[in-house]
Amino acid sequence: MNPGEVTANLLAVKQLIDLYEKKYQRKPGSVSLLAVSKNQSLEKMMEAYQQGQRLFGESYWQEAQNKILTLQNTVPEPIEWHFIGKIQRNKTRKIAEHFNWVHSVPDSQIAERLNNQRPDTLPPLNICIEINLSHEITKSGTALENLNELVKFCLNLNRLKLRGLMAIPAPASTLDEQRKSFRLLRDTLHTLQNEYPSKRANDIQILDTLSMGMSEDFEAAIAEGSTIVRIGTALFGKRL
Ligand SMILES: *Cc1c(COP(=O)(O)O)cnc(C)c1O
Repeated sequence: MNPGEVTANLLAVKQLIDLYEKKYQRKPGSVSLLAVSKNQSLEKMMEAYQQGQRLFGESYWQEAQNKILTLQNTVPEPIEWHFIGKIQRNKTRKIAEHFNWVHSVPDSQIAERLNNQRPDTLPPLNICIEINLSHEITKSGTALENLNELVKFCLNLNRLKLRGLMAIPAPASTLDEQRKSFRLLRDTLHTLQNEYPSKRANDIQILDTLSMGMSEDFEAAIAEGSTIVRIGTALFGKRL
């Protein structure tokens, strides 16, 4: 990719997000852009940073650690790091120590480890529970049937802040089909919000997040209430 291409892509994606917010009567600015930089170079990340991008998503601790250590000593304003990948048990400490958000909490064991390993010097770790919407055995995430129990469990962990739900639906070819999966996730979050109103009243930052939408389906996700879209290829081009 040529210099300037990330800049152009970032502008184009942001314009589309604005456009979809209007088209689907979403509040202006209610959809955040997470730049998914896994398998992308530091140079491309720096270009996005210089254009004002501050939220970056990574999927592998091994790869993320170099980027985090390098960038935190280079950039003037802090980056907000989001872990979005499959979580190996032996990596939870590093993730709890170095990330602001984890989108891919699949079960109570991982949640408990992240909670116990989150340093006291840092604010609580923002988490989303990942839902396996289509029962794909190759994908991680909790089944909808087990969600309630996991939510109750997470709400009792005081080093974690349960922000909402995340899913990666099976690919669908039409906008309507894409919207169906996202609608299910949205309805699921609304049910939880009704079930735990006191938690919401005490702290508005609980259960306020729908992490859904990637390069190929973020229009459908925004139509159904996404609050964070996770975009990689459309910003940075093909992954290395
Ligand atoms: C890689 C990845 C993305 C970005 O996907 P693109 O299709 O490149 O936008 C989003 N979410 C998760 C969980 C990912 O692993």
